Amino acid sequence: MTTIILKPRKEESVLRFHPWVFSGAIARIILDADHRASEPDEGELVRVLSADRQVLGVGHWQVGSIAVRLLAFKTDELPATFWHDRIAAAYAMRQRLGLLRPDNNIYRLIHGEGDMLPGLVVDVYGTTAVVQAHSVGMHLHRQEIAEAVVANVPEVEAVYNKSDDTLPFKAQIDGDKAGWLIPPSKVSDQYWALENGIEVRIDWLTGQKTGFFIDQRENRALVERYAAGKTVLNMFCYTGGFSLYALRGGVKLVHSVDVSQKAIDLVNANVARNFPDCTNHRAVAADAFDYLSEQLATGQQFDLIILDPPAFAKHRDVVRNALRGYQRINAKAIEMIRPGGILFTFSCSQAVDKEAFRLAVFSAAAQTGRRVRILHQLHQPQDHPVNIYHPEGEYLKGLVLYVE
Ligand code: SAH
Repeated sequence: MTTIILKPRKEESVLRFHPWVFSGAIARIILDADHRASEPDEGELVRVLSADRQVLGVGHWQVGSIAVRLLAFKTDELPATFWHDRIAAAYAMRQRLGLLRPDNNIYRLIHGEGDMLPGLVVDVYGTTAVVQAHSVGMHLHRQEIAEAVVANVPEVEAVYNKSDDTLPFKAQIDGDKAGWLIPPSKVSDQYWALENGIEVRIDWLTGQKTGFFIDQRENRALVERYAAGKTVLNMFCYTGGFSLYALRGGVKLVHSVDVSQKAIDLVNANVARNFPDCTNHRAVAADAFDYLSEQLATGQQFDLIILDPPAFAKHRDVVRNALRGYQRINAKAIEMIRPGGILFTFSCSQAVDKEAFRLAVFSAAAQTGRRVRILHQLHQPQDHPVNIYHPEGEYLKGLVLYVE
């Protein structure tokens, strides 16, 4: 096994269980004898030692500023039961949290560092689990992971790999990045699963991420509480999750907007499935900025608006632009709220922290000159846990505003 030796004092964060070793912290790399290249192979398991040769942990080697993502601390080998143990622990937690119920079979089983498995995401949709590898290391273990999921999650019979968009694109990757790892007994072209009693169509083949945005479950339930009798605008709706809860909450009218026609088709299918007689929902394929500007120009107002845009900042260098984007879109939305109405506004950019996002929304409010109060501060749900030693895992934040 390749050995990575850190510079003096660079072991401190690892001793505090932070799972990343940055390339700048490395003093020496002692390659295993059978290496031909001068660097470890991307994805190989390496052992990490401190400058005084104390064993710190074992993890996956990566090309980039995060050089090692640690899987286990204070040991240099993974036990034979490693995947089973971690997956069983994650499943036990979701069970204890009450996420597996007759009316709910959608949940995130593995949330990367939050479940001590950096680089791995596993989402469960009823009898199917969808795996996403964000690192070559996890990609190399994909079959073992799939087998451990089926062995430890009794409801799951099939595992699909959806890593074509998430693996580092420069890496030389052998093997399939997408496809069944464990096929189902019966392949269907329409797959439905349940979130809090609402049926949603999951399309992991061509959909975004693993097919559905599970991370807004609790926030959608909060929209349901506020929806009765209101006119609602759901911007960046994707499969329409917020609209479905709003409909169940008794809205007067809901508009769902997304730039993708495919998303709009999914929203319409979901609404038809859950509310076959519905006459108070409209879905529009449009760019959010254009749509808000047009509606503002006609003096249109809504009682409740949801803004859940895609990550405006995918990395640190573009944070300033992202903040301007958040400010611009929030100002338009605040202007469009009927007096006494509510705005649910979110950011899922990990690079934009809570304070920066709040400042962008504050600037938007100030720009409109309206009286605005914060009612709720929202975040990612319990099946997207933040490892306390890895605060970078916090990514979803939201504010619920009362606009006078
Ligand atoms: N609210 C959704 C998730 C939103 S994901 C849910 O609860 O499931 C972000 C969505 O924004 C994607 O569906 C994407 O198609 C859409 N999108 C991206 N850019 C857009 C734009 N400029 N205008 C409108 N929608 C956009």
